[in-house]
Amino acid sequence: MNALLIQSALLCILAILNCQVAQPVSDFTKDMEERLTQTRLMTTPAQFKLSRLSRHLYMDFLATAKARSYAFVHFQDFLAGDVVLPSRYIVLRHDIDFAPRFSLEMAELESAAGVSSTFFVLVDGQFYNPLDSEIVRQIRRIHALGHEVGLHFAVSTSVHADVGQEVAFRLSVLSNIVGEAVHSFSQHDPVNAGFATVTLPPGHRACVDASDVIKNNNLLYVSDSAMMWRRYTFATAMEESRNLCLLAHPHSWLHPQDD
Ligand SMILES: [Zn+2]
Repeated sequence: MNALLIQSALLCILAILNCQVAQPVSDFTKDMEERLTQTRLMTTPAQFKLSRLSRHLYMDFLATAKARSYAFVHFQDFLAGDVVLPSRYIVLRHDIDFAPRFSLEMAELESAAGVSSTFFVLVDGQFYNPLDSEIVRQIRRIHALGHEVGLHFAVSTSVHADVGQEVAFRLSVLSNIVGEAVHSFSQHDPVNAGFATVTLPPGHRACVDASDVIKNNNLLYVSDSAMMWRRYTFATAMEESRNLCLLAHPHSWLHPQDD
């Protein structure tokens, strides 16, 4: 196929995409896809850097973090009176928004690389059933690999009127699934579901709110949400002389072709 033909094929594809008609990726040749990516990048506003995630990039990130002497800590390490934190650290976080099997894959990959992180699990059954025997096994396996398991919840799916009671209820459900007391929680999609300040009921064991950890320790927070980096990527965040909280969605890095 000569250059002119490729160019007109690309124009057709762009026209189709502009009309919001889905085009199967398999119909693209590698060359056409590459050119299309370049076209998209050229039209991306300057303040955004579009970055394709991949397993390879994730392994690079882990290796760079270790080479730069970052320690990996858990959210529960911020419980008052607990372990002394290292001077340079990353709180690495994964939200299990769907398909826990991808998180287990990430947990195994990190464990093999000597890295430990926190996996936040939803128990509201919206996107996966946390009581499905296979999913219980996956969550327990993540925990057995030495990672922390924390609670992920959306304020919008509350049963209790009091959000503190709601979180206590869900912490109890998740603790039973994990087989050990859960000590941290984070909010799912606070932009759309709403954000709440959580006060656990009197007498409840102390737990860590992920948003407090970020705020109280002045962590630089970088999320891979929507696969679009805004001010920082994981790589550029590590150039800053600050401690970091990084959120990586396992599926986006390990299986970006399905995103
Ligand atoms: Zn989430």
